[in-house]
Amino acid sequence: MTQPLGPAEIVVDLAAVRANARLLRATAGVPLIAVVKADGYGHGMVACARAAQEGGAEWLAAATVEEALALRAAGVEGRVLCWIIGPATDLAAAVAADLDVTASSAAHLDALAAAAATAGRPARVQLKVDTGLSRSGAPRAAWAELFARAREGEQAGSWTITGLWSHFACADEPDHPANDSQEQAFHDALALAGEHGLRPELRHLANSAAAILRPSSRFDAVRCGIALYGLDPAPGEATDIGLVPAMTVRAPLLMVKDLAPGDAVSYGQHWVAEHPTTVGLVPVGYGEGLPRHASRPDAPDAAAAVGIEGKRRPIRGTVCMDQVVVDLGGDRPPVGSEVILFGPPSAGGPTAQDWAEACGTINYEIVTRIGGRMTRRYV
Ligand code: PLP
Repeated sequence: MTQPLGPAEIVVDLAAVRANARLLRATAGVPLIAVVKADGYGHGMVACARAAQEGGAEWLAAATVEEALALRAAGVEGRVLCWIIGPATDLAAAVAADLDVTASSAAHLDALAAAAATAGRPARVQLKVDTGLSRSGAPRAAWAELFARAREGEQAGSWTITGLWSHFACADEPDHPANDSQEQAFHDALALAGEHGLRPELRHLANSAAAILRPSSRFDAVRCGIALYGLDPAPGEATDIGLVPAMTVRAPLLMVKDLAPGDAVSYGQHWVAEHPTTVGLVPVGYGEGLPRHASRPDAPDAAAAVGIEGKRRPIRGTVCMDQVVVDLGGDRPPVGSEVILFGPPSAGGPTAQDWAEACGTINYEIVTRIGGRMTRRYV
């Protein structure tokens, strides 16, 4: 007898994460910095960090110092880069935990000097320059000050400058002129750092899209997030290196019911059956991170779908907090049937990319926001 399907769950294929890490490492031909921020883009930070390391990633990266400290608290060893420092961040703990902390300003360096003194050991510091994203990173006008202060602190024994890096704005559009100008600006920053006597061990610029599409941007390492989880960093571009999506979201079919023409579905009654049909109830909603407009009230033909017994079943009516209604088109799959919300093509349902297109967003957002009440199971 087959086991009834349990509650809705996120299944993460760690073998896929390992294989993706291996592929990225081989494609780039330089060390891989596996980006596991935001709970591993929704896949689980610690498990994915270990899987990436097993797949050959030499470095890990988290966004915040707190995330990086959580990796250490879980026993994850090896080099870990982080770059978001908050006003209350415990930088002394970061130094004590051997994290590579990013400084984007002289003020960050001052704070790191104090942290190194508290921790009683030199910090490991990477410098970040803004080459065109206007996010973190020192703006060009502040590079000289940052590099001078970095050199001074290095000579004083406060830290070792272990890296210099920046981040692309448009790597998913390989023909965008910003890619050339950012790469040139990065070369300018490296030259200026050299003039200040800095010799950072690791110069890095590329995210997943650039790591695959732009060999000139690989420098000493690539920082890959989305591709590690098997999702396409630049849909429509030549990114097919054999990545396998690691996340499958599945749930049991809860109920099947008949609708007559004129019957309306869900809050606002935005979808009304035109013909007799059957609909199914699936216990996943915006409480689990599904976008509320996935049924596309404006364009129901473009609605996100789920997979049941190998068939695509579109979402009808507004996504609720706890459930969605899908159109079964007159079919009656048994209650308890497996519903694939998204996963790798081999799972027989839509992909996270399909959901992203239906919802007018990017695959990153679909997987990173998913969670809520669902349990995560690693296979
Ligand atoms: N580097 C930085 C600074 C990032 O913020 C991110 C993610 O947004 C990455 C690397 C990884 O980018 P991707 O997921 O596109 O590989």
